[in-house]
Amino acid sequence: MNALLSVSDKTGIAELARALHDLGVRLISTGGTAKLLAEQGLPVTEVAELTGFPEMLDGRVKTLHPKVHGGLLGRRDHPDHVAALHRHAITPIDILVVNLYPFEQTVAKPGCTLEDAIENIDIGGPAMVRSGAKNWQDVAVLTDASQYAQVIAELKASGGVSRSTRFMLAVAAFNRISNYDAAISDYLSSLQPDGTRSPFPAQANGRFVKLQDLRYGENPHQQAAFYRDLHPAPGSLVAAQQLQGKELSYNNIADADAAWECVKGFDTPACVIVKHANPCGVAVGKDPLEAYAKAFQTDPTSAFGGIIAFNRTVDGAAAQKVRGQFVEVLMAPDFTPEALALFKERPNVRLLRIALPPGGTTAWEQGRNLMDIKRVGSGLLMQTADNREVTLAELKVVTTRQPSPQELQDLLFAWKVAKYVKSNAIVFCRDGMTIGVGAGQMSRVDSARIAAIKAQNAKLEMKGTVVASDAFFPFRDGLDVVVDAGATCVIQPGGSMRDQEVIDAANERGVAMVFTGVRHFRH
Ligand code: 5GP
Repeated sequence: MNALLSVSDKTGIAELARALHDLGVRLISTGGTAKLLAEQGLPVTEVAELTGFPEMLDGRVKTLHPKVHGGLLGRRDHPDHVAALHRHAITPIDILVVNLYPFEQTVAKPGCTLEDAIENIDIGGPAMVRSGAKNWQDVAVLTDASQYAQVIAELKASGGVSRSTRFMLAVAAFNRISNYDAAISDYLSSLQPDGTRSPFPAQANGRFVKLQDLRYGENPHQQAAFYRDLHPAPGSLVAAQQLQGKELSYNNIADADAAWECVKGFDTPACVIVKHANPCGVAVGKDPLEAYAKAFQTDPTSAFGGIIAFNRTVDGAAAQKVRGQFVEVLMAPDFTPEALALFKERPNVRLLRIALPPGGTTAWEQGRNLMDIKRVGSGLLMQTADNREVTLAELKVVTTRQPSPQELQDLLFAWKVAKYVKSNAIVFCRDGMTIGVGAGQMSRVDSARIAAIKAQNAKLEMKGTVVASDAFFPFRDGLDVVVDAGATCVIQPGGSMRDQEVIDAANERGVAMVFTGVRHFRH
């Protein structure tokens, strides 16, 4: 048997080569790889020796030769192929180990030049991978160090690589080539005339990897699967580890994402309860227990069967309390052993452990992975994610009455929540908890009425609440509804043609109002 090894990432290659050699396999290799193997004391034939042609043009041409491609593509069960190989003294290659020039890593580096990128486009590697993978009946193609162990084990056990493994390796090989070419195409299509890169390449090749098939989609008659980005952003839902409970459903995943995105925006201990993609209770507290108790109080009816997210480790006290309600999914950065033990007795609850994002993700990661994508007919709408936060300093008080420091804190809290509520969003809050949430209505006045009704249903005091509106009030009617309900302080983007009418109304009613200058539509 003959193996050709040509790798940029040399991880595990010496061990693999040694194992192949011990099994009697002849090693053929390109410059850098051959040098490394020779240093390990392994006998190795240089590709240049095999082809009778030197590696040339700074390595641009190493393996692009009929002696290599004939050896990879020739069918062993085809008499004409066998005769041709023989006639041209071509050695059949049975095992091909290739990983490619690190194009993706090169272009991810800040300041990467076009020249660097171009030099890191591998030509001969993908060509060999394609040849070997096309001829998978006769060739085992390894494109990743994670595949080495299995192939070695099979060779040791049976002296060959099984048909099913060869097929699986060929599929992985074509996937790798496809992703590699997509990375090149994405990079080149993103270059703008001034040399900067646009997050929206001329052709969107965004690649996704399937995580799991789902039992069904949004409804039982729809089929569905869950995919992740090829290079996921740290701290995103796709990295969640399920510790117990039934399989996640399509709706579970969509709601868990909404809850997680919302809760991870708080610096202090927070809890978010989501139903049908909207938060129905959000609160901060001194610990997870307090945050949960407050969040639950907002809307106990809707919280039934909800998705609950924490941004702190769930301890026994919080777990004990959460256990008292019907919960579909519970997610947190971690759980104490006591909390885990308590949920063992509720085996249907899906527990997800999910890491908070580390500070300082690169602009590339943010741009690539936090892109918002929406399907429209046979097209796609893409936008950068809505990760705009407003600071205290950006708030503009537009009324005679000034908000108190406590009100300002609540205004910022309400604003953070409103960003995650479907438009039109109206969110009443007080003391770091939601009091009433009005979501997804076609009219802002109706959202305001619904939020007030919900607060009354939960028997929560509306007097002295603050209220956030995700977009401006087009008329004073919406403002009148929230003030009638008991709000004394309002936060909204401003920017309406009738801002003055709304400001006058706020002054007339004696409430404070601040403008953010930022809108948070969410559909
Ligand atoms: P080495 O470190 O062994 O000199 O080079 C290994 C790398 O060269 C691998 O990433 C492989 O994909 C790549 N490679 C192999 N043959 C060719 C070729 O003919 N042209 C180019 N551009 N790259 C090749």
